[in-house]
Amino acid sequence: MTEKFDVVIIGAGPGGMTAATYASRANLSVVMLDRGIYGGQMNNTAEVENYPGYSSIMGADLSEKMYASSTQFGAEYQFGTVQHIEANEDKTWHVVTDMNDYQANSVIVATGSEYKKLGVPGELDFAGRGVSYCAVCDGAFFKGQEVVVVGGGDSAIEEATYLAGIVNHVTVVHRQDTLKAQQILQKRAFAADNIDFIWNTEVQTINGDEKKVESVTLKNNQTGEITEHATAGVFIYIGLLPVTESVADLAITDQEGWIETNDQMETRLPGIFAIGDVRKKHLRQITTAVGDAAIAGQNAYAYNESLK
Ligand code: FAD
Repeated sequence: MTEKFDVVIIGAGPGGMTAATYASRANLSVVMLDRGIYGGQMNNTAEVENYPGYSSIMGADLSEKMYASSTQFGAEYQFGTVQHIEANEDKTWHVVTDMNDYQANSVIVATGSEYKKLGVPGELDFAGRGVSYCAVCDGAFFKGQEVVVVGGGDSAIEEATYLAGIVNHVTVVHRQDTLKAQQILQKRAFAADNIDFIWNTEVQTINGDEKKVESVTLKNNQTGEITEHATAGVFIYIGLLPVTESVADLAITDQEGWIETNDQMETRLPGIFAIGDVRKKHLRQITTAVGDAAIAGQNAYAYNESLK
């Protein structure tokens, strides 16, 4: 049986939950659909120190608090993986999950992004215990210590420079002998006296005890030489991937797969909004996801009103 809602939100991360708060508070019927537990990437975050109102809060606790807010005006959370979305003839949207079918006047896509993984032994074991994909989030935990940054593009070099202002020393490990990052970013990184570079080198394993990272094993891809490099942290910046399988048929993404919107969070399709990490933008954080979500929630209300 098809369930009908004014707004279907795909993804119950901070973006999806905040959009649910705004849309349901405006008296719309709202369902958030998620293929996992609500909270999104906040569930993978030990401590959040840059969300307004909290000097420090565990990611899982912030998820619980946002979930309580998002459901207080009647929005529902339902489990399911959205497989595709189709346009109905009456201007509504048909949303299909592996569990159920939904009809909605508007859809807010809040499916987030995934960090590209190195795929080496130790990477998953030490996630959140020394392996990180977010310097803005986790850099402060390594104050006074040595960290490794893996990558040579804009993000890697920008974040290496950011980390150099916090930690004792940064070693950039790059598999080529030149950086891909913009010249201005390279210039800043080369000028920092606590950033070193190891060229033509790939991380083979990430090592440590049961609690934390202690070293990386490196292989020079020109000479084959294997070395061990002591470090407390490994920041991996080899790229982000948008999570957009559910909207693949809609042609609302750019060539790299990020969803394109205007500043009202509207995609090129009437009634389809996109927010948070999955959107084409520069800074992917909890605060920016919830900012997008407030705008989309309010505009979903305006869109629903326009259909009356
Ligand atoms: P997400 O949080 O990624 O949520 C997307 C949701 O969509 C997920 O729950 C997913 O299951 C669901 N979904 C995807 N596809 C489907 C589908 N087809 N069907 C159903 N559901 C689907 N930011 C900060 O501001 N401060 C920090 O300290 C911080 N630390 C971080 C630490 C780590 C380790 C990581 C990985 C990220 C961190 N971030 C931090 C970034 C922050 O978590 C993200 O920017 C934020 O979660 C993005 O929110 P979102 O709602 O757009 O997407």
